[in-house]
Amino acid sequence: MVSAVLAGTRWTTRIIPLILAGYIGLVTYVMIKRICVDFFLHHRQQSRTAIIFLVFYSVLLLLLLVTYSRLWLVVQINPGVVPLGPRAILQRERDVSGKRRRRSDGGEEDLEASRYDRWPDENPDSPGLEAFYSKDVFVCTNDGRPRWCSTCCNWKPDRAHHCSELDRCVKKMDHYCPWVGGVVGETSFKYFVQFTFYAALYYVVVVAAAGLCMRVTLANGEPLDGFVIAILAVSAFFAIFAFAMTCTAIRYICVNLTNVDYVKSKLGVYQLAIRVPRGTEDGFNYGVISYPLSPEPGSSPDLSGQTFTNNEPSSRDHLATRTFAIVKTEVGQNPWDMGYYRNWKSVMGSNAIDWLLPLRKSPCENEETSESFYKMGPLLQTLRTRFDLPDIPLDEKKEDTIKRVRK
Ligand SMILES: [Zn+2]
Repeated sequence: MVSAVLAGTRWTTRIIPLILAGYIGLVTYVMIKRICVDFFLHHRQQSRTAIIFLVFYSVLLLLLLVTYSRLWLVVQINPGVVPLGPRAILQRERDVSGKRRRRSDGGEEDLEASRYDRWPDENPDSPGLEAFYSKDVFVCTNDGRPRWCSTCCNWKPDRAHHCSELDRCVKKMDHYCPWVGGVVGETSFKYFVQFTFYAALYYVVVVAAAGLCMRVTLANGEPLDGFVIAILAVSAFFAIFAFAMTCTAIRYICVNLTNVDYVKSKLGVYQLAIRVPRGTEDGFNYGVISYPLSPEPGSSPDLSGQTFTNNEPSSRDHLATRTFAIVKTEVGQNPWDMGYYRNWKSVMGSNAIDWLLPLRKSPCENEETSESFYKMGPLLQTLRTRFDLPDIPLDEKKEDTIKRVRK
């Protein structure tokens, strides 16, 4: 059933761009030949009107094609996927080579493999885990570990979500877009909003030219051109659609949410692991977890959602231990909200050229630091105060600096 849906989606994503290209070709023919040249220039002798529409149409068509091409290429080549975990790589290699074990009679999937996929890696030295606890804050689950993707068999970085159509986790995933044949996320959202913006303006120009042409024709009692009526109706629909998409996208940028974040923030809260001084014990309103996780028996991860046991890291370098308090935001609070303008610059860039042209990548692609995956807003400090979390002492901060310099 799922594979049938995915196959349907794949076909839709191939066909829609072709239909769009055909429609743009038709609109270009009607706008240039039938409206500007035949009607305004030759029939009505209104060369100024014809030139104004031709210039606006050509410029917007160019911007539309450039932004769409950039968007399409990024979506196809660099959609911002999170690397697969070792188990997923192994399993997908098996799938490809046709060695996936199935029962010969009913084709049931291998139950053992499914079980391994479902649960987070229990190895205290799980690959990729260090990338989380070497930061000062990350999104975690009840037990203090990062979120786990059971399909990619890997830890999910903050704001990454699994895209079922792509079958991969995507950074800052927004939505799967059939118009561009792929997933819109961190690497493409800037180009997506530029595309919808120019698409809205493009269709407004088409509606204006076709509408004026039709009004003059009707006023003179002349027969209506079927092509003009057709592109007027369809383009009016696309103009409204593109305008609504642009407004929604700009709103998400200004509050620093993706489509997926927005739905989740309406339904629940974020749970964060915020670094506290090494060895801090549970507070009255928060639990703690220390990394690296203890490998001793009895301290294995508790999948029921309880905090890990914090055994002393006897065989490990004590100085490498990092302790985190596990705290929750309130419903609707967004840890990454830095204020409208900083949120805007994080996606769109810092100047008008960046905002209007699809030249440079979004700055948020390079926001990952030793502190967090993405820059966080004032809510982080608010949480520290609300939960009365102790500050990191100076000697621990100095150790961090030394480690960074050595790296
Ligand atoms: Zn995934």
